[in-house]
Amino acid sequence: MTADAAFAALSFALQDIVPPCDGDPRFILEPREISRSELWHLSITKCRGCPVRKLCAAYGDAARPEAGIWAGKTYGPGARRRQPKDPNPAATPAALTNQEYPCPLTSTS
Ligand code: SF4
Repeated sequence: MTADAAFAALSFALQDIVPPCDGDPRFILEPREISRSELWHLSITKCRGCPVRKLCAAYGDAARPEAGIWAGKTYGPGARRRQPKDPNPAATPAALTNQEYPCPLTSTS
């Protein structure tokens, strides 16, 4: 998926959902401004149960933004090499909810 398509899908889903990170300034920091333990904490407490986590992760992986936290990851200079992993992403509520938000650019229905 291209970064543009991933961004479109995430934006489409966010029309109906306010994610747990909304308004939290830690989610727009540059990687060097946030500690690994804080990243881990935010990943567990906010991103793990986020209903748009898969779409957020798809955008982060495609665009690799230099700033911000995307589904518990950072990508820019100073990004943490080891990222927290969800032990069973297929079982999270986010994985199920994201099925309701197919990419509007690639969906055939
Ligand atoms: S998964 Fe993305 S949208 Fe959801 S809380 Fe984490 S950074 Fe915010």
